[in-house]
Amino acid sequence: RKDLIQAPILAKWFSNEAFLQKDVSSVDEKGFKGHDMLAPFTAGWQTMDVNPLVVEKSEGSYVYDTNGKKYLDALAGLWCTALGGNEQRLVAAATKQLSTLPFYHSFWNRTTKPSMDLAKEILEMFTASKMSKVFFTNSGSEANDSQVKLVWYYNNALGRPDKKKFIARAKSYHGSTLIAASLSGLPALHQKFDLPAPFVIHADTPHFWRYHLPGETEEEFSTRLANNLENLILKEGPETIAAFIAEPVMGAGGGVISIFSVYAQIQSVLKKYDILFIADEVICAFGRLGTMFGCDKYNIKPDLVSIAKALSSAYMPIGAVLVSPKVYDVIHSQSNKLGSFSHGFTYSGHPVACAVALETLKIYKERNILEMVNNIATKFQEGVKAYSSSPIIGEIRGTGLILGTEFTDNKSPHDAFPPEWGIGAYFGAQCEKHGMLIRVAGDSIMMSPPFIMNPEEVDELIEKFGKALRDTEERVA
Ligand code: PLP
Repeated sequence: RKDLIQAPILAKWFSNEAFLQKDVSSVDEKGFKGHDMLAPFTAGWQTMDVNPLVVEKSEGSYVYDTNGKKYLDALAGLWCTALGGNEQRLVAAATKQLSTLPFYHSFWNRTTKPSMDLAKEILEMFTASKMSKVFFTNSGSEANDSQVKLVWYYNNALGRPDKKKFIARAKSYHGSTLIAASLSGLPALHQKFDLPAPFVIHADTPHFWRYHLPGETEEEFSTRLANNLENLILKEGPETIAAFIAEPVMGAGGGVISIFSVYAQIQSVLKKYDILFIADEVICAFGRLGTMFGCDKYNIKPDLVSIAKALSSAYMPIGAVLVSPKVYDVIHSQSNKLGSFSHGFTYSGHPVACAVALETLKIYKERNILEMVNNIATKFQEGVKAYSSSPIIGEIRGTGLILGTEFTDNKSPHDAFPPEWGIGAYFGAQCEKHGMLIRVAGDSIMMSPPFIMNPEEVDELIEKFGKALRDTEERVA
């Protein structure tokens, strides 16, 4: 059957599928179907050949398109709408703040109460290591960009002008600004953008199934990665390496979960060479892994942390950097000398975003978000992992409310399907046909449902996954 597939170009495959023929009301008199946006992470052919999925309304775990079709939002927007699609308390918090003080900035020691209250609340919630300050941004990318500036400022203040390089990991995603894209270890983010910047080095992906050597145990794998990291540091010169950045669980890179010992060993190597650990918690924070932060789950004691997404359940754009006393004290004395810490954004600590985030965190506490997540996480993980025996699935991995599935031939990490078959994309299209939205990245697909999903909706997710899988197996097997 495999040879029956005629290496379809994805564009054709998508546009030929009847189910993707949407309402044509967006087609103008000249028959032009595209929209006017240079859309993020969208291929040229997608904007020209396919009517976009135009989402109009959200409700709980569902979103609706402009044709009224209902989709189970198994990705929670982009790993972010933790409280689902219509949490009225967040709407009320935004409305109240908008009508009192829609904007004031936080420059020059002028600020607003919501931003101060939110900083205090975040510091109280993060207990994996001591943090003393919060710097607000508008996104996860800006948070990671700011991390680099903070670390450089810190090392300059300490008189270590050469300690500037960053180690990130292959397959990581840290955002798409110039610096965040450089830190990211995904080739598509570098291709034709003249990236990564030369100060970034990429280390191993901690993905046991894909990268372990024949006969290697998880412990041995973890030790090998730590040794590789140490060798990399020694090769570059420890005096040149400033920081290591990692997502506790990799999101966009495929929902890659790490084994516990990886972080213990990495942290001891970093400590040895006075290298800072930056935890990119943009996806993991606030309960997604069943713990309040990814650092809690993996016993990571970071020097700096990036958060965004579930911080406001995505109802308003906001991100933040948490700064440990070790780093902050140096920054503080340096900015005293220079007269200013000259970094920030007009919207750093935007009062409406902060008011919404404060209400979000209040709801997490009141509703015991960890209990909510853990109540559905086992059903979600076990239900989807039950499909692991499919002949076209190499691995289903995940923890809490994050899960990645990798399609491979012969169930082997080394036998990829020909990319032009677009197996992941086909599976994603079948999910869409059956009324479910997921994330596709090559032949990996990811899910990260909202925390408020109820058990019946989890059943629906599992059933839709199964239907899309059968459709895909029929096409391939
Ligand atoms: N870091 C991680 C781990 C992410 O997953 C993302 C976005 O998906 C980012 C950073 C970038 O965040 P933003 O898209 O808000 O800039």
